[in-house]
Amino acid sequence: ARTVQGVLRPLLAALLGDPDLGMSSRRADQALRAFARGRLAVPEGGAAALPERLAAALPPGTVRTGVRVTEASISRVTTAEHGVFRCRSVVLATGARTAAELLPGLRTPAFHAVTVLHHTAPAAPTADPTLLLEADPGGPVAHTAVMSAVDPGRAPEGRTLITSTVLGTPPDDTERRVRKHLATLYGTSTDEWELLALRHTPDAVPSMPPPHDAHRPVRLLAGLYVCGDHRATSTLQGALASGQRAAASLLRDLGLRGGTREEDEEAA
Ligand SMILES: Cc1cc2nc3c(=O)[nH]c(=O)nc-3n(C[C@H](O)[C@H](O)[C@H](O)COP(=O)(O)OP(=O)(O)OC[C@H]3O[C@@H](n4cnc5c(N)ncnc54)[C@H](O)[C@@H]3O)c2cc1C
Repeated sequence: ARTVQGVLRPLLAALLGDPDLGMSSRRADQALRAFARGRLAVPEGGAAALPERLAAALPPGTVRTGVRVTEASISRVTTAEHGVFRCRSVVLATGARTAAELLPGLRTPAFHAVTVLHHTAPAAPTADPTLLLEADPGGPVAHTAVMSAVDPGRAPEGRTLITSTVLGTPPDDTERRVRKHLATLYGTSTDEWELLALRHTPDAVPSMPPPHDAHRPVRLLAGLYVCGDHRATSTLQGALASGQRAAASLLRDLGLRGGTREEDEEAA
């Protein structure tokens, strides 16, 4: 019971952003398996490093950012600021809510909210690159880490960066409560800590109640594809796997890929 309450429950809540553990037990098994096999990792330099690397491998000008799509169909995409793009195929890779706005009829899942707070401190409360999990569900902090010890590139030279996460609806007076809780978790005064940023994302993680289908179709029609974590599992791996399935379907529909759809599914 001690291991379940003290480690497994808070670890699963942290891995899937689901404080009440309403997720499918299969997805919970999968998350624990991935954790046991791969441990925890973050991209060096911040979360944007991975998409930046992927984009850098493409010919210059292939990717445009800051362009908001207002309408999408197989043959045309309308944007708020850059007019209309004509096309042969569309892959819609937004979050679930926007996907359903652009393509009415798509299901919108429920979401788990996540609030992240970044603090800097005169001295690191620990030199360990360790994720601290709070076993007491009273919170508000679910987990916290000295991110400058995990990846020094995330903080300016000589500065300490502590990143802490609140799962679900944050309490009133979030920053004060979090600061007080962090003092207990790290066993040090946090009076001198400075809040750098507090970001609340209401639609952070699509919920995965049972029975959860991790292989929701990504090909709506020949030429129209939808991918993202909401078509697979609510993780970066899920988003990448559904993107791989969408890319394989599109290439097959364009006659640029052999094999079968079943083989694509297995590969993803
Ligand atoms: C705070 C937080 C912490 C997380 N931590 C982890 C973690 O540790 N591990 C993990 O595996 N997962 C984590 N996740 C979940 C993970 O970030 C998502 O599962 C993943 O980013 C989903 O990828 P995606 O490509 O499906 O969607 P997104 O990453 O949401 O990408 C969708 C893109 O579509 C763009 N877009 C939206 N609307 C439009 C429009 N109208 N026109 C043009 N573009 C549009 C958006 O700008 C965005 O770039 C976390 C999520 C949050 C919010």
